[in-house]
Amino acid sequence: MSEALDAYYRELGLSEKVYSYCQSVEAGLADRFSQIDAVTEYNQLKVIKAMQEHKVSDYHFADSTGYGYNDIGRDTLEAVYASVFHTEDALVRPHITCGTHALTIALSGNLRPGDELLSPVGKPYDTLEGIIGIRPQKGSLAEYGVTYRQVDLLENGDFDYEGIRNALNERTKLVTIQRSKGYQPRRTLSVKRIGELIAFIKSIKPDVICMVDNCYGEFVEMMEPTDVGADLCVGSLIKNPGGGLAPIGGYIVGKSEYVENAAFRLTAPGLGKEVGASLGVNRSFFQGLFMAPQVVGGALKGAIFAANIYEKLGFECVPDSTESRHDIIQAVVFGNAGHVIEFCKGIQAAAPVDSHVVPEPWAMPGYDCDVIMAAGAFISGSSIELSADAPIKPPYSVYFQGGLTWYHSKFGIMMSLQKLWDAGLVNL
Ligand SMILES: *Cc1c(COP(=O)(O)O)cnc(C)c1O
Repeated sequence: MSEALDAYYRELGLSEKVYSYCQSVEAGLADRFSQIDAVTEYNQLKVIKAMQEHKVSDYHFADSTGYGYNDIGRDTLEAVYASVFHTEDALVRPHITCGTHALTIALSGNLRPGDELLSPVGKPYDTLEGIIGIRPQKGSLAEYGVTYRQVDLLENGDFDYEGIRNALNERTKLVTIQRSKGYQPRRTLSVKRIGELIAFIKSIKPDVICMVDNCYGEFVEMMEPTDVGADLCVGSLIKNPGGGLAPIGGYIVGKSEYVENAAFRLTAPGLGKEVGASLGVNRSFFQGLFMAPQVVGGALKGAIFAANIYEKLGFECVPDSTESRHDIIQAVVFGNAGHVIEFCKGIQAAAPVDSHVVPEPWAMPGYDCDVIMAAGAFISGSSIELSADAPIKPPYSVYFQGGLTWYHSKFGIMMSLQKLWDAGLVNL
């Protein structure tokens, strides 16, 4: 390493001890990193091909106002998304405020009173509890007469095929499959496993809608859930597919009928995709999608780097240091609040924005306990940018993800270790 680089790290607050420890870990990761590069290359070409097919041109970057009729940029972007995910149609809009909102319109647009929703992979993401009505919430699907059934994963993480077979019934209209672990200790599902699950479900009930919550999964593998039978796939643009450039938004891709049903919820029955001015976001949506494979690759390198660092120090990492990756999230189980808070302080201290503030746990809306969040992001709340969050409750795991560049992820993780070291919480 050059002396000039060393000096920079020193100036930015990294000690010789922590730095050399981390360098020795990185030296062992060359093979893993080249595997990630191969997936990045494939997905980069997939995105370029879709953009070429739809003749993306500079006039697609112009904005529209008012009703947004005939917004050719918006419509072309949606065609590009449909190509990337190999689906009939797509809804990609700045009016979708977040991933939870995208999931809400996909669910409420496709479910009717008397229908049943099934999660065959255990409890869904925390914010979905209120939407489904697992936790009482005004406006939930439960209030509209949609019932919910859940089949947990088996102890060993396998699907409970017998339980799923028993849960499927004549009222089951939609099955929601969450790819990423979210704040659960379970493992993230690979696209292959999602495909196996969908095939099983369809063998019992061919007409059921299989929807995948794809949050944090886009471009991690060469295939997406829509390549293995998902009828709908949903995600947030301030995560992977926005590439860090989309300032807001969500997407829904899948079969035309189901995407249209969701669009009727987003705007109004009958209006659907026809309205919705893009207000100047088209360029950043296109450019973000273009950047996304590379950004996701960098984030994955960061996650693997972190797992290798913290596992060697004796902390359980999910996924562990050697496992294959199916989303960009890395959980480190610290077992107590002190470690979690120092870790988050380190991530914050490495940020390009707001590095001078100190994160603290707070009662965030939608969560049932205090949550600490570290992020110094260009896009507020963006979790494709380097960020860490942790519910302050046992087992005191920190979930961290992102980094628009590998070098920023690397620096953030080294700073997290620095904070733990400074607080006397780890031995190197
Ligand atoms: C992030 C995420 C969501 C949606 O969260 P928002 O903060 O509303 O964008 C849903 N499901 C999973 C698994 C997620 O990771």
